[in-house]
Order: sequence, then C-alpha cells, then structure tokens
Amino acid sequence: MRPAVLNPLFASITALPGVGPKVEKLFRRIVGRDRDDVPRVIDLLFHMPTGSIDRRARPRLRDVVPGTVATVAVTVERHRVPPPGRSRAPYLIYASDGTGDLVIAYFNARRDYLEKLLPVGARRYVSGTVALYDGMLQMAHPDRVVAESELETLPLIEPVYPLTEGLTANQVRRAIEAALTKLPAPPEWQDAAFLARSGFPSFGAALQRVHRPAEPGDVLAGSPAWSRLAYDEFLAGQLALMLVRAHMRRASGRCTEGDGRLRARIVAALPYTLTPSQSRALGDIAADLAGPERMLRLLQGDVGSGKTVVALLACAAAIEAGRQAAVMAPTEILARQHLKTIAPLAEATGIRFGVLTGRERGRERADTLDKLARGEIDLLVGTHALFQAEVAFSDLALAVVDEQHRFGVHQRLALAQKGRAVDVLVMTATPIPRTLVLTYFGDMDVSELREKPAGRKPIDTRAIPLERLDDVIAAVGRALGEGRRIYWVCPLVEESETTDLAAAEARFRALKQIFGDAADLVHGRMKGAEKDKAMARFAAGETGLLVATTVIEVGVDVPEASVMVIEHAERFGLAQLHQLRGRIGRGAARSTCLLLYKAPLGEAAKARLAIMRETEDGFRIAEEDLKLRGEGDVLGTRQSGMPGFRVARIEAHGALLQTARDDAALILARDPELKSPRGEALRTLLYLFERDEAVRLLRAG
Ligand code: ADP
Ligand code: MG
Repeated sequence: MRPAVLNPLFASITALPGVGPKVEKLFRRIVGRDRDDVPRVIDLLFHMPTGSIDRRARPRLRDVVPGTVATVAVTVERHRVPPPGRSRAPYLIYASDGTGDLVIAYFNARRDYLEKLLPVGARRYVSGTVALYDGMLQMAHPDRVVAESELETLPLIEPVYPLTEGLTANQVRRAIEAALTKLPAPPEWQDAAFLARSGFPSFGAALQRVHRPAEPGDVLAGSPAWSRLAYDEFLAGQLALMLVRAHMRRASGRCTEGDGRLRARIVAALPYTLTPSQSRALGDIAADLAGPERMLRLLQGDVGSGKTVVALLACAAAIEAGRQAAVMAPTEILARQHLKTIAPLAEATGIRFGVLTGRERGRERADTLDKLARGEIDLLVGTHALFQAEVAFSDLALAVVDEQHRFGVHQRLALAQKGRAVDVLVMTATPIPRTLVLTYFGDMDVSELREKPAGRKPIDTRAIPLERLDDVIAAVGRALGEGRRIYWVCPLVEESETTDLAAAEARFRALKQIFGDAADLVHGRMKGAEKDKAMARFAAGETGLLVATTVIEVGVDVPEASVMVIEHAERFGLAQLHQLRGRIGRGAARSTCLLLYKAPLGEAAKARLAIMRETEDGFRIAEEDLKLRGEGDVLGTRQSGMPGFRVARIEAHGALLQTARDDAALILARDPELKSPRGEALRTLLYLFERDEAVRLLRAG
C-alpha cells in the first residue's frame, strides 16, 4: 500500500481548483504519461520548466528597453474601445508614469473585464514584453496586471513550461501552483551528510524552488534543486532494479531445454544463414533457458541487425520444451511487424501463435485468451495488452520484451509474473554504450548483434540545404521512375504537434500534385487500421512514395525501400536520425539517404549531420550522441535521452547516476529488506517514483 502521506500527490488533477475535465484532457498531452491515463498532481509537479521569465527589471518608462520584459508602475489614463464593426482592431489602454507613456493593447478583449482590470485613474503594475510600435511604447497582452496591494503576489522570476495547443502558460502555472499546495512533508530518504555535501534541499523544497524560482538559475537542470530531484529519481530507479534483480535470482528458474527440432525447421525455412553474432546470442539464450537460474538478458542490436529472428528462435526453444513464450512490443505497428516476420515461419514449423493488442476485441480476443489459458497457443505476440490481468498463460516460460526504451522495469516484471520463474529477454534497438547499460537496464547479461546481416550495402548519405528542394524532388521522381520505394520523413514533436502535422500534410499534398497516386501519407494521428493500410500499400509497392511523420521510426520493415528523405534533419537528434535511416539499406539495392536541412546550421546540428555521413555504426553514433547532448535543440530527447526517467536529464545529471548506483548497492547491503527508519523512508521514495513493484517484492520476500 502506498504510504498515506503521498495520497494527495496521486489524486487526479481535477481535484485542483480551476482544473475541469476539459483542461484535464489538454494536460494529458503534456505531462508525459500515456494519453489514456488521468494525470495526477505528481505529474504536474514533475512537469519541469524549460526556462524562466525574469520580471525583476522595474524601469521608469523613459528607461525601458524595447524588446525586453519589464514590470512598470503606471497610472491608467483612458480606454479606447475599438470602433464598432472593426472587431479586429485592438482595444487600447493609455497609461503613463510621468516619465513616459505606454499603450496597453488587447485583441478580442472584453470591455467589462478590462474596465475592472485597468480602471481609469488607477495605479497598476503591468508586466510583459515591451515593444516599440509606431514610435510608442506598447505592451500587448501584459502577462501580469496587479494593483499595488497585490504586488507581493507578482512572481519576479516566472518559470516557463512546455505547452500544448489550447492550454495557456497561465493555466499551466496556476495548476502547478495549486499542485504545490498539496505537497506533503514525507520523511527524508536521502543521507543527511550527502545532502549537506551536495547542497541539496529537501524533496519538497526542491520542487518549490524549481516551480517558484528565486533566481533564473533555479530552473536549470543543473541547479541544486533540480539535481536533488534527479538524484531521487535515479536512486529510486537503481533500488528498484537491484531489488528486482535480487528477487529474480532468488526465485530460482526452471530448466527449459528444448530438443532443437523447431529451431532446426525455422533455420531451414530462412532464406539466409544466421550471422555469427546471431548464432552466438542464440547459444547464450539457450544456455540460460536450460540453466537452473532465471534468465535476465539484454539483446542489443542496431536497427536491422536481425533481432526478431533471434527472438523467434529463443521462443521456439521454450516451445520445444512444451511451454509457452510471449513477445511484447512497445507499439501496435511494431507488434504487427513482428507478427509479419514470425507468422510465416511459425506456420511452416507448426508453432501455434496468437496476437493480442488493444485492437483485438470481443469474440476474437476472448477466443485468444481461452486458447492461451488452455495451452493451445504456443506463442503470443502483442503490445502491453499482454500484461492485463485477464491474460493468463497455461505455462509461460519465456517473455521477450522488445523495449526500444519504452517500457520500464515494472512492465518487464508484470510479464514475468504471468508464469512460474519466467525467463526474460529484453531487446533494444538503440545501441547503448556499454558504460551505460548497467545504469539503464540494471545488472543484466548482455548479447550484442554487432555485424549487419550479409548482403547489406552501405547507405549513401548526403546533407542538402532546403533551397535545393527542387533538385531533391527531381531525384525522387527519377527514383520512382526506376521503381524504387521512398520514405519522405517529416518531423513531429509533441510540443508543436499541430503545426508539424500541418507541415507534413502540406508536404504530402505538394508531392501528390507532382506524383499523383504514387504518393501516400502515414502519421501517428491516423487510426490504427488506416495506418496499417497505408503501410501495406507501400510494402506491396502499390505506392512508391510514403510521406511519414516519425511514426515509422519504430520498426517498420519494407526491405524494398531504398531512398529516404529526412526533412528538417537539423531538428532531429543523432539517435533518431540513425533509427530512421535504419529503415532503408535492408534490401539488395543500393540505398540513399538525403538529409534535407534548413540553413544556417548550428554547430551541434552540423556535427550531427557530419557524423551521419561518416558512419552507420550504431554504437559509435550512440557514443557521439552522448558527447553532443545538451548542445542545441535536439528533437526527441524525451524518448531517446533518458528512457524511463521523468525529471532527470542526461546532459545535466548523467554523473549522478553512478553515485546513485553505488548508494543503492550500499543501502541494500546494509538493509536488504528496507526495514530501518531510512529504509522505510526509501520505500516512500519508491512509491513516489512508482517503482513500488519493487516494494511488493520485498513483501513477498
Ligand atoms: P531488428 O529487429 O534488429 O531491427 P529485424 O529482425 O527486423 O531487425 O531484421 C531486419 C531484416 O533482416 C529482416 O528483413 C530479416 O528478415 C533480415 N535478416 C535477419 N537476419 C538476417 C541474416 N542473418 N541474414 C540476412 N538477413 C537477415
Ligand atoms: Mg525488428
């Protein structure tokens, strides 16, 4: 049970004043949990600022620097209501402070509201960006207007948050303010001497500091306050990993030893031979399965390195032993992709397989669950729908979790608990430098697929400025004429989803004008079935040019695709560029990747594109990525930066990870059951960061 002291933090945000169901929907989009989950107070508190507005400048009007944020004390002189019939004209309010004049402008304003806010003759403090307009100082839509008596409520440093369309900065700030009032005072879980040495405040004080900064520096990730929160998150994560690991080791495994007959049939059905590293990985896995300890192994391999077939062969080993296996993918598309690879091989071998995602419903779903429970399905492929409570296996031996950084420890664990002593194989497509594997994944055995399958040709990668778009389109036309298949990727970031989506659709329309029905579109807002259809048309060669937002990043496999245009390549992070490019160069044809960028390039973006031209080695790219992080505006850091972390940022806090790891090991060595007073406080920490599955393991002993 979660300690009661934390309950206010896990209440829905609709419990906060001013947050109704309508706004709640918008908050779902920014606080970084699943869209179907109702955001809670804690999610708001972990919604970290991206910067701040400094309102401390209090110049007289004659000293105001146009273009800056200022807080000025003025007397309201008169209102000028827009003339009737010209509703687009601004509502103007003239004010002065004796040294100069200020025009305050509102568009689409309500008169009664403004007359109350800024009554003629009153003295008001107004704060916002001052501009020079028609030779006059003007402030359009001041951020803040307060009377002298309320001056104390005016925050001098105001945090700025990531927003989403329809949600204003003030709404977000007010909600976070309200959330701060719910902060409990839990017992301190960190070591007092460590806190003093690091200059870290308490958990509550740290959150207050970040959201009510006293200095602009307080909202930077490297500040003591934010670092304290990141350290809390790391420590919770490391403790959970170690507890899970200890538990899995303790619950001794079962020996699952197949006779090799299914594996032999699959290998015989493959149109290629396994690479040496695939064979080695399989050997490791088979040995783990056969051994008495539970397997906890990470299979790392670049995009296209052939992890799926390794996963299938691992499953076959378990099935040979008369038991069941499951493969869980992070997205619907990826689950279908795995199924596409697995289905023909499974059929050829007599493996009975089923699929379970959010899309299977009704009879079909009931039927699958039924067969699964009776042991009439050997292999189940799906999404996180696999670990819903109703899903019961007859005898699950192996869970393969294709992680791609999207699942956390508790999902792995949930699936592992669907059977007795389930062996777990985690796959990741993002090569992670070895030094970081431990900290991301905990103490796991690692198999790497380092060489590309035979027959792959290097990808010709070029960087081209957007001014040469016409040349690129002409080249795409030629490639289409040769029957090649082309991805055209447009960026889509959640923060600016609407405009990005509009840009992608506009690009699609423009290309469709030129190439007609050969062009198609796929993006994340489309319905699952529509997405699949578009993908299927492309895979079948019915369309040749697929405009896509980054939804295709995860695991789409069309070996015939041999050209990729990445628009606004400068906005993507290295890891993501690498993942995207991995979608081509899979077939026999020579592939080309065109990185279309908007000039001028910043230093970091220039370096990223140069590395992309230089190498295809995912491990090398991952290392360069680590070095470059924190410079420039990297798209997709949320996914690829610190998987599974909400508060921590790798560029600012990476160094704290190792400390947290050592700390966690020491804590558990001294107090393995977390029973001391500090241990109790640490349990609260685990609940706070929702690593509480680990606490349950402690109970189960
Ligand atoms: P990953 O999941 O690691 O990104 P996949 O498992 O999807 O990669 O494999 C990518 C492609 O390579 C698939 O089309 C697969 O059939 C093919 N493939 C896998 N192993 C080999 C191999 N040893 N030789 C040639 N092709 C292979
Ligand atoms: Mg794959």
